[in-house]
Amino acid sequence: MARIPGWLFLIVGLGVVIYSSIIQSSAQADVSLQLFYYIGIIFICWGIIKMIFRAAKDHREKSPLKKVEMMRKAHILQQRHQKPHVPAGTFCPRCGRRQPDSHGRFCRVCGYRIR
Ligand SMILES: [Zn+2]
Repeated sequence: MARIPGWLFLIVGLGVVIYSSIIQSSAQADVSLQLFYYIGIIFICWGIIKMIFRAAKDHREKSPLKKVEMMRKAHILQQRHQKPHVPAGTFCPRCGRRQPDSHGRFCRVCGYRIR
């Protein structure tokens, strides 16, 4: 389904309202034209609702990204300041077990080749 922007609904709604009101003023009052007029108003309302929801969605989508970015930067800074106090052990990428012998080429648990 193609995403129709809110402002398009707004413009179409306005167009329908203006058009039907012009026709209605020149011609005799028609029930079908009145219906068009209400449809136009519904379109305008829908357009406004869509625009509000879209703005809210954009806001929600942007804020967690910013938070993640800030957390990532803080983490990098933290890593720069503190030296690793625990010697980096080798972990098997397959079973995740820590290897007692950091020079071993194969996992002691599952035999997976580490280096
Ligand atoms: Zn393993």
